[in-house]
Amino acid sequence: MEDRILTHCPHCNATNRLPAERIADTPVCGRCGESLLAGQPLELNDANFDSVVTASEQPLLVDFWAPWCGPCRMMAPAFEQAGKTLAGRALLVKVNSDDNPQLSARFGIRSIPTLVRIDKGRETARQSGALPASAIVALAAA
Ligand SMILES: [Zn+2]
Repeated sequence: MEDRILTHCPHCNATNRLPAERIADTPVCGRCGESLLAGQPLELNDANFDSVVTASEQPLLVDFWAPWCGPCRMMAPAFEQAGKTLAGRALLVKVNSDDNPQLSARFGIRSIPTLVRIDKGRETARQSGALPASAIVALAAA
């Protein structure tokens, strides 16, 4: 794994490789030039997570999830909707807990979905269980 974020442009769907340390520089799509952070959750991993936390000027709301988890899949549209509401105020990211055992262990994730809010490198809030978009927004703003 590398210290880059693989992300799909929310406008043209082009795959972009985004250097994690440039996350605060309003990154734009290499193909269409539109903003890559238009509220679309970013998929982070053990390799690039800390770089994003360090570089981000916004608080992060992390969704620990896994593909086999029904409530996680159920919450995914609400998480995306909350991301659009929170664009510019909080960075919504997803971490696949199966693929990223280091992050899961560090945050002591015992059930999923679990949402963790991180502000300036510190955990400031946490909530387990699927939430509606309004509750996700409230947690990010806490
Ligand atoms: Zn694009």
